[in-house]
Amino acid sequence: MNTEESAARPRPLAALRTLLPFLRPYRGLLAGWLGFLILSSSATLALPVAVRFMIDRGFSDQDPSGIDRWFVGLILVALVLAVATAGRFFCISLLGEKVIADLRERVFGHLLHLDMEFFARTRAGELVSRLAADTELLRSVIASTLSVALRSFVTMFGSGVALLITSPRLAGMAAIGIPVIVLPIVLYGRRVQKLSRDNQDRIADANARATETLTAIHTVQSYAREAHESGRFAAAVRTAIGAARRRIATQAGLTAVVILLVFGAITGVLWIGARDVIGGTLTAGTLGQFVLYAVIGAGSIGALTEVWAELQRAGGGMGRIDELLNERSAIQTPHEPAVLPARVAGELTFENVTFRYPTRPDAPALIDFSLHVRPGENVALVGPSGAGKSTVLQLLLRFHDPDEGAIRVDGIDLRQLDPRELRGQVALVPQDPVLFGDDARTNIRYGRLDASDQEVVEAARIAEADGFLAALPEGYGTHLGERGVRLSGGQQQRVAIARAVLKDAPILLLDEATSALDAQSERDIQQALERLTHGRTTLVIAHRLATIRRADRIIVLDGGRIVAEGRHEALIAQGGLYADLARLQFNQ
Ligand code: ADP
Repeated sequence: MNTEESAARPRPLAALRTLLPFLRPYRGLLAGWLGFLILSSSATLALPVAVRFMIDRGFSDQDPSGIDRWFVGLILVALVLAVATAGRFFCISLLGEKVIADLRERVFGHLLHLDMEFFARTRAGELVSRLAADTELLRSVIASTLSVALRSFVTMFGSGVALLITSPRLAGMAAIGIPVIVLPIVLYGRRVQKLSRDNQDRIADANARATETLTAIHTVQSYAREAHESGRFAAAVRTAIGAARRRIATQAGLTAVVILLVFGAITGVLWIGARDVIGGTLTAGTLGQFVLYAVIGAGSIGALTEVWAELQRAGGGMGRIDELLNERSAIQTPHEPAVLPARVAGELTFENVTFRYPTRPDAPALIDFSLHVRPGENVALVGPSGAGKSTVLQLLLRFHDPDEGAIRVDGIDLRQLDPRELRGQVALVPQDPVLFGDDARTNIRYGRLDASDQEVVEAARIAEADGFLAALPEGYGTHLGERGVRLSGGQQQRVAIARAVLKDAPILLLDEATSALDAQSERDIQQALERLTHGRTTLVIAHRLATIRRADRIIVLDGGRIVAEGRHEALIAQGGLYADLARLQFNQ
């Protein structure tokens, strides 16, 4: 065996070791399982002995009641076997469910804290697949594979010892066959592991494809691309089947070879044993006992081969989950984070900030950007698409840290803060409001989970959302559909504003929608926003003239740099980019 092979072999089991901490809280179940396992294995190993006595003594006994004793014994052994097997099954299945539930929670909780860069390079569908398919694989591993593995191991060992005791001569002969059986298992095992990882990767691909398509169902149907998408999904599924087929074929081949070898060996031993019985050197009962042990032992070796392949598969799955758990967010909370007051004043400072997105290291999104916003000031960011406006908001929410320079809230560097505490002081109304597939009340309450129904309605009123929400079939209890599809764009936006109103944060970030709203909706939203910005530090990515005019100050961005700043009239008088942008708006 070459070194690469011997280095790779223990890997799946090493990956499974990371499961151990998850087993720790359930020591009781684990102990129960081991107890029942020992009991059921002992009962299994006692069966052949009972059978031998039945044959050798029971049949030759003159007294008919003699045979009863052996049969009663047999029934008792069966009873123990039945109860212990049920107990074993119960403990290990429950253990599997509990451990996997914990693992899922851990992985999901961990994912929620990862940074935006991670989510930019990882598809949501793939994560869901890992969360579902890989953990499911592990569940079956704990609930059945590990159980079968240990049980088979115990019975294999026990029957081996029993074989030796029953007939050392026959056992010696059977032992010669063992290396012939074990070798292919080891050799095939590695191949199965690789194929299994392939298989899981293809399943994750297919799942990611499905999630993406369903999320964009509106676009898919409006372009009548249903057949095209079915085709793409089918192709992804077929690739997954192709990978599964190779794995299954390898596993099936392995099973066939092992069964053949095992039964070949048993037949050989039986053959020799039968001659011994005829020659009078062995009793029929002992041969029967020997054969039963051999069958039990061979069965457990057979089970182990399947288990070995399964373990390799699970090792692959656990490896992938471990990868996720080892992902670290680039946005770190310092050991002793600075503490913000319950409500910050809202002074914002950008000091010579230069920032590049990790996926675009060559093109800085902000270059030497400096800005000071007084508490309560209302600052508008304008500039062509790609100028860096959204990036300013992203950095302020600490979704990324700047490469150079610093950003401060009330004089405190954001890097000294726990991002969650910072975000607690900021309310964001995004351009594309994201509603959850839940009712209106729950969607608004997302801004402050302990808000009363009355406060929710109050917030909706301020956001000009009360009118249409109250008119819905079930009022605020109406389910808004997946991602809020049952509301119009303008309505969704007002729900998002209500959410921000409810949050009542001292710093407000607005990414105003450019989507063609009708005049009435636009006026409603405008009024809602005006109420919202009052008395808060506001940074707004402004697209509408109304906002721009109202702002205390306008910052004009281009190519990641500030190219001009001032009030509307002054900037118009200056000419340049702002005057061009304003002219476009006026002309429309
Ligand atoms: P604006 O909001 O002014 O339209 P952005 O701040 O979104 O501009 O983008 C500024 C620059 O950063 C653009 O060149 C854009 O392509 C790039 N950019 C924005 N988001 C990302 C991202 N997640 N990954 C890589 N580059 C990005």
